[in-house]
Amino acid sequence: MENGAGNGAATATVAAWNFAPNDALLSLTGLSVRGVLGRVKAGMVEDAGAGARPVVPLGHGDPSAFPCFRTAPEAVDAVAGALRSGEHNSYASCVGLEPARRSISQYLSRDLPYELSADDVYLTSGCAQAIEIISSVLARPGANILFPRPGYLFYEARAAFNGMEAQYFDLVPDRGWEVDIDNLRAVADKNTVAMVIVNPGNPCGNVYTYEHLAKAETARELGIFVIADEVYAHLTFGERKFVPMGVFGSVAPVLTLGSISKRWVVPGWRLGWIVTNDPNGVFQKTKVVESIKSYLDISSDPVTFVQGAIPQLIGNTKEEFFNKTIEVLRQTADICWEKLKGISCITCPSKPEGSMFVMVKLDLSCLQDIKDDMDFCCRLAKEELVVVLPGCAVGYKNWLRITFAIAPYSLEDGLDRLKSFCLRHSKPKEVI
Ligand SMILES: *Cc1c(COP(=O)(O)O)cnc(C)c1O
Repeated sequence: MENGAGNGAATATVAAWNFAPNDALLSLTGLSVRGVLGRVKAGMVEDAGAGARPVVPLGHGDPSAFPCFRTAPEAVDAVAGALRSGEHNSYASCVGLEPARRSISQYLSRDLPYELSADDVYLTSGCAQAIEIISSVLARPGANILFPRPGYLFYEARAAFNGMEAQYFDLVPDRGWEVDIDNLRAVADKNTVAMVIVNPGNPCGNVYTYEHLAKAETARELGIFVIADEVYAHLTFGERKFVPMGVFGSVAPVLTLGSISKRWVVPGWRLGWIVTNDPNGVFQKTKVVESIKSYLDISSDPVTFVQGAIPQLIGNTKEEFFNKTIEVLRQTADICWEKLKGISCITCPSKPEGSMFVMVKLDLSCLQDIKDDMDFCCRLAKEELVVVLPGCAVGYKNWLRITFAIAPYSLEDGLDRLKSFCLRHSKPKEVI
């Protein structure tokens, strides 16, 4: 040591540190979109200088950086006003500020056959914390949860971390990614506590019909709760309109998870919710409600001034803003669908009708030097500066998840580069 001060510490024998890593944590590395995208981008070197090709991000689900997805001015005013009022500098109550809970209950009740109350709503730090909380609430040794495949891996990561088992039921690509109900019945057992459904879907871009959601009676027969991830609620641009799972809350109790992240395009504002859609009071009787409250007592809360802004944010945002977002998504989903049709090694089973994503199948047999989906994505990033999520990150090997929620010109550019990549790596056509 230059200054001599550290000499003693450097020479004295130090006992081994008592820390040992938590293996449950270390084993989660492959189970997150962020982690997998990090690996995809690891070998990518960005172009520099004039005429440099920009990176095209088709891997993630945060379009907020693109001007065409800028949030509503009313939402910004709501937050700025809440901050300036000086009334939201304190800790909020654990369940969240009452006016915010009330306005969310009214907002969601518009689409339901019954009225929610403020007490049905618990505010969370984005939908991600809602998932974290529900996972902890449902966890007990031996219990399992049913997840859709393909799905949103964050659920599996949280379940695994809570020591729960994950079981999978299939979504059927050729039937608009509907739940395979027979398969669902086959995998459920007496230790199954809940099933997860993501609608509109990430990663599939599906929107479920009223009739399909009515199959909630299966959950009732199996004695399992429904966790409905509706973080993409109302982001639909096809024939099918969004129907909330809570419509069937009296058939099987539903925990609806949502947030302002996607519809208002402000994932950085970190405001989400857990809502109990349960006209029969099952969640009270089974102590789900008590468990949620206990968890909230020991967890951190969403920022108070964002909670304080919610009544104005919901009340003042104009239809015009929502319509504009939907218009851009409709346009980019069309671009995606048309351009993908022209790429020979990729097939897209159904046109996305909601959310920001589409799942496409890789035909490795027509590519000559690509090992699998991960290899495909790493080399695509390296050669074309186009970032796409490999299917393994959503539990679907050798497929890709592409997001179309970016500026149209950038999407076209990215898909053109995807096409030239596929052409370059295609097997030569057999000569007859
Ligand atoms: C983005 C996303 C979330 C997380 O939402 P936040 O509000 O940003 O935490 C949860 N579920 C799905 C399916 C998502 O795509």
